[in-house]
Amino acid sequence: MKMKLHWQILIAILLAILIGKMTGTEAAIAGVSFYDVYVFIGTIFINALKMIIVPLIVSSIIVGVSGLGKESGQGVGRMGAKTIGFYAFSSFAAILVGLLMVNLFQPGIKEGEPVGKALALHESTASMVEKVSGRGLSDVADIFIRMIPTNIVQAAAEGQMLGLIFFSILFGFFMTRIEKHFSDSLYQLAMGVYETMLKITLFVMRFAPIGVFALVAKTVASTGFSAFMPLLWFFITVVLALLVHVAVVYPLILMYFGVSPKKHFKAMLPAILTAFSTASSSATLPLTIETIEKNAGVSSRTSGFVLPLGATVNMDGTALYECVAALFLAQAYGIELSVSTQFTVVLLALLTSIGVAGVPAASLVAITIILTAIGLPVEAVGLILVTDRVLDMCRTAVNVYGDSCAAVSIARSEDEDTLVARSHRWQKTSEE
Ligand code: ASP
Repeated sequence: MKMKLHWQILIAILLAILIGKMTGTEAAIAGVSFYDVYVFIGTIFINALKMIIVPLIVSSIIVGVSGLGKESGQGVGRMGAKTIGFYAFSSFAAILVGLLMVNLFQPGIKEGEPVGKALALHESTASMVEKVSGRGLSDVADIFIRMIPTNIVQAAAEGQMLGLIFFSILFGFFMTRIEKHFSDSLYQLAMGVYETMLKITLFVMRFAPIGVFALVAKTVASTGFSAFMPLLWFFITVVLALLVHVAVVYPLILMYFGVSPKKHFKAMLPAILTAFSTASSSATLPLTIETIEKNAGVSSRTSGFVLPLGATVNMDGTALYECVAALFLAQAYGIELSVSTQFTVVLLALLTSIGVAGVPAASLVAITIILTAIGLPVEAVGLILVTDRVLDMCRTAVNVYGDSCAAVSIARSEDEDTLVARSHRWQKTSEE
């Protein structure tokens, strides 16, 4: 019997941790270092996933929106409102969990003293500061300006997903307002592209265990765990907060919509593990769509609309992380955490998590925006670079799982049965 994909990926992750640690960045055979091999294979895998994104996003949104637009004029509006409402609610809940945990654990304070001075700045700080300096509140406004692209080809080429999504929604909507024979052919075309992209995804996923192995081995080989020690409390706070969100908040929401949290989590495992390994929600998107349709039984009408939007704008793990990181740094620098400061952090974490791209380390830029707003030097972000990659993997897994929870909940609210509904087995047997 063939082993299930999520087991294959899980084994690949465990092996990668072991072997990556053993080889490090130096070990080599015949002059070729293992590390270079990891980088080579990992890059090919990520490239293959990224290659799928643009045609998949455009076709899935056009299929989703035009499908909704066809059935009734209000379909798009209804689904849009539900999606945005869900995303706003779950991100806000995630930030509150982060806020609670960071106040409870106070990772930035040790024996009543801010830990800032005790933490040495990481070497790569200088380059980071260069990258983020000049950021400010106007970047939050930019997020919304970027939503309307001047040139969609350029937006696609530069991976500006928000612009691409906005255009696709408009296209899908107005497609239903033209003569029927034209709109029918456009629909057939979009559907054909969509189905083909899913097949390509399936093909790429056959290599997932190898790709995932290479990506994780690369991270483990290049990240010295000893460097984690001064940040251990911060690390634990973030991981615990993410766990609380996944194990408490999502199950409550899912149960409200009649979805079995256990079944849904199991169904989504391949996507969650891939998100963990790639640290990119965008790169994982093809698999998120494929998995939710095949394993959770959500229709392409719902997933095609909710998921591409979610991969770009809904990042619960990221929002939570931004909140914990900004407040940790404020604690570490001994800044007074007044209610208004905390409120600023919450609000900015919510807004910037919308604009953060679904690529590795994207939230570091958002964190510097928050730091500037609460009066901390941008250099402070250097303190958390050491743990960033591993925490990025964790928060991306939560981001992707959060999108899938939204899709399945919205599907249920649209009267879709889905395979992960709590009532599903019962319904099956009662039919038999
Ligand atoms: N890597 C995250 C994602 O792709 C974004 C971030 O938090 O940096 O979802």
